[in-house]
Amino acid sequence: MHSDFSSIFQVILTEGHIFSEHAGLSGTGLRRVRPIQYAIHWLYGVSEPMILRIVDYILSIRFLTETAIGKKILYAIAAVSWFFPHGIVLTTGAAEKMVDFIERSEGPKGARIAVGPCVCQVALNRRQEPHMKDMVLLYGADIYYHLNMGYELISAERAKEILRECDAAGLVHAVEFCMNSGKWVFVICNCDDKICVPTRVFLQTGKMLFPGPEIVAHERDRCIGTEKCGNCLERCIAGANSVEGDGKVAVDYEKCIGCGLCVGTCLGRARTMVTREDYRHDHQVPAELLLAENETT
Ligand code: SF4
Ligand code: SF4
Repeated sequence: MHSDFSSIFQVILTEGHIFSEHAGLSGTGLRRVRPIQYAIHWLYGVSEPMILRIVDYILSIRFLTETAIGKKILYAIAAVSWFFPHGIVLTTGAAEKMVDFIERSEGPKGARIAVGPCVCQVALNRRQEPHMKDMVLLYGADIYYHLNMGYELISAERAKEILRECDAAGLVHAVEFCMNSGKWVFVICNCDDKICVPTRVFLQTGKMLFPGPEIVAHERDRCIGTEKCGNCLERCIAGANSVEGDGKVAVDYEKCIGCGLCVGTCLGRARTMVTREDYRHDHQVPAELLLAENETT
């Protein structure tokens, strides 16, 4: 195991990964990741389970989640944690396009995509299926693979299969980066709202997860009502759907994070995903990389 601090330096010295060429994202291209970034992120990878346990503990303090002053404190903690991983929500189609982009991109060599056990599940000892769903990318794939924490290198096709399995399980995809910079993109997380720590922080504070480049479009007339369906209420972790007097569902577009989970299971075929006009994260992960022809799945 390389997942303790003393062995990190041994691995760096004897295996030389830190001096190799590693690929990072840069706009709609790839770039070489410098050894200092690689080393910092390696330290983060080793520390991540401990950090997640600390945040989970903070979220368990009822004063912080249930009182007005506590919520303000929690918000402030989340706001000053800007350098920790933050995510942009993706539909399965957009996540697949990210995988395709990595697959076809020329650039520095090294690992490109790997999958391992969900770090939140491992850290909190709350295993459930799907479990192998931490999809690390680019230099992140290389780091986590060499941490020997159960990660395996996978093909783009296998990555897309896993994304579809996570969609079927109702998990939200988010492409995550540190330092508030797309140059630190390192993973596609597949998150629920019960275990996943960043998602639970988002649900409490509105921080750490950003709406993606798509948003739901809802044709109310086609909704067959919650008596016959109601799948959107079940699938949406963002609370963007509510039942109206006639039993049909209305969408609060301000709350829609653009995950697309309500689309495929809508029995009335009332929903599609469209481009979000006010997507604010082109400087981190450009919409043009995630969407094709301004249209979506
Ligand atoms: S309304 Fe649909 S697309 Fe929007 S957040 Fe909810 S499940 Fe995701
Ligand atoms: S999933 Fe579609 S049909 Fe079902 S309740 Fe929601 S909007 Fe209506």
